[in-house]
Amino acid sequence: MIDTVVPAGEPWMGIVRRGEAFRIVDLEGNQAVDTLFYNAADTHEHYSAQNTIQAQGRIYLTTGSVLLSNRGRPMLRIHDDTCGRHDTLGGACSSESNTVRYALEKRHMHSCRDSFLLALAKHEHGMTKRDLPSNINFFMNVPVTPEGGLRFADGISAAGRHVELLALMDTLVLISNCPQLNNPCNAYNPTPIRVITREPA
Ligand SMILES: [Zn+2]
Repeated sequence: MIDTVVPAGEPWMGIVRRGEAFRIVDLEGNQAVDTLFYNAADTHEHYSAQNTIQAQGRIYLTTGSVLLSNRGRPMLRIHDDTCGRHDTLGGACSSESNTVRYALEKRHMHSCRDSFLLALAKHEHGMTKRDLPSNINFFMNVPVTPEGGLRFADGISAAGRHVELLALMDTLVLISNCPQLNNPCNAYNPTPIRVITREPA
């Protein structure tokens, strides 16, 4: 069983077995948790934002959302959510996006894409940057306006809120506990999270 604190700005990787519940706790509040899921037995099968949005007919993720793979199969289901809404449109920050959105001098700053790549390089799954599809941003607030606009807004999460997913297959989890300092996704203050697996209630 997993029970670990992921420090602010750090990546984490682990395996959640089918039937286990996987909980992410926003320990101090307003922390964006960039997350990808893979079939642990075949990492070419991974989370698909497009299939998930299309199947559920809505853009935010919350209790009841079934996360589908690029092969259209259910990977996990959100069954407990005290935050209420999670983003899967905003993508992961990168040195390139930091440069385009903010300034050339932001290029050296830590980013989720670099954290993902660091985690992939450290673990023995044979994965590369080709294995990074569009991700989920747990606890991140990316409101879509009635006109279809997209904004990065101040968080709607708070200290101690959590999201819990039931694994419907053996799942490899890749997390970047976002180090972003240039937009309000982390309230300009990256903080630690706790990840836990347990038998479902
Ligand atoms: Zn980030």
